[in-house]
Amino acid sequence: METPFSRPGRFWRGNLHTHSTLSDGHRTPEEVCRFYESAGYDFLALTDHFLAHYGWPLADTRPFRGEHFTTIIGAELHPAQDRMELGAPWHILAAGLPFDFAPSPLNETGPELARRALDAGAFVVAAHPQWHTTTDRDVAALGPIHALEIYNASCADDNDSADSAYMLDLLLARGHRLSVCATDDAHFVLNSRDRESGWTMVKSETLDPDSLLTALKAGDYYSSTGPVIHDLVIEPGQRLAIRCSPANRIFLLGGPAKYTVAGEQGITETEFDLSEWTSPWARVLVRDDAGRKAWTNPVWCDAAP
Ligand SMILES: [Zn+2]
Ligand SMILES: [Zn+2]
Repeated sequence: METPFSRPGRFWRGNLHTHSTLSDGHRTPEEVCRFYESAGYDFLALTDHFLAHYGWPLADTRPFRGEHFTTIIGAELHPAQDRMELGAPWHILAAGLPFDFAPSPLNETGPELARRALDAGAFVVAAHPQWHTTTDRDVAALGPIHALEIYNASCADDNDSADSAYMLDLLLARGHRLSVCATDDAHFVLNSRDRESGWTMVKSETLDPDSLLTALKAGDYYSSTGPVIHDLVIEPGQRLAIRCSPANRIFLLGGPAKYTVAGEQGITETEFDLSEWTSPWARVLVRDDAGRKAWTNPVWCDAAP
């Protein structure tokens, strides 16, 4: 089975969710881009809140691109009035928006806004589900979006709701085929670990925004808060093999209640027998001694090889 690791190219590190002074962030777009470039990132999506009271900002980060650093144009989208099932506002992350993406009309719903972003060519993500008590009905209503945030670093210190793995597994069990992403959602708040904490590693032949976007939409990436995944081989019905940076647990997760684990101090590789794996999907989670995690996107065992 093809995985990001079997595709040509190399992995590029990027953060898909960030704010600047164009909305409620504390640094200018240039300062934010320079910060990530200096921190060794290959790309950044600056995703300010696309709202009337901020003047519908769609940050133009093109001046900050260089030979070794690029940007994806994006925003965090919110309908003006529509709310999610339990009353919180929609937060829909969109990377890869055109500059003429129109402001949300007053009566636009969250699902309609997500659809418009998809139609405009964006990689669309349900942001921080746990933080806003997003329900599985909410995420399902967004239609064929690409992913949900399984980790949002801003939430870690702001409201202790960084991890939305439960929402992912619930949706997978209901048959929704979603990727995941880890993001910073950086606002550059003092005394917060809202930067350099959650990122994606995208497999692409070039560091070109369009190539990165194509890879993201295809799920050709993994996400991390620390561990590195070096290789992943999947032979459905036979075996799954993984190599990674030193960890203490490597989990193979399916559902419901379907899992297997390899646990050993400093473990850097393992192989799982898939001959009796009955879950329609599988995803791998690597966890290191510090509790940091790396997530592969779920693979569906019935997918074409
Ligand atoms: Zn948000
Ligand atoms: Zn945000």
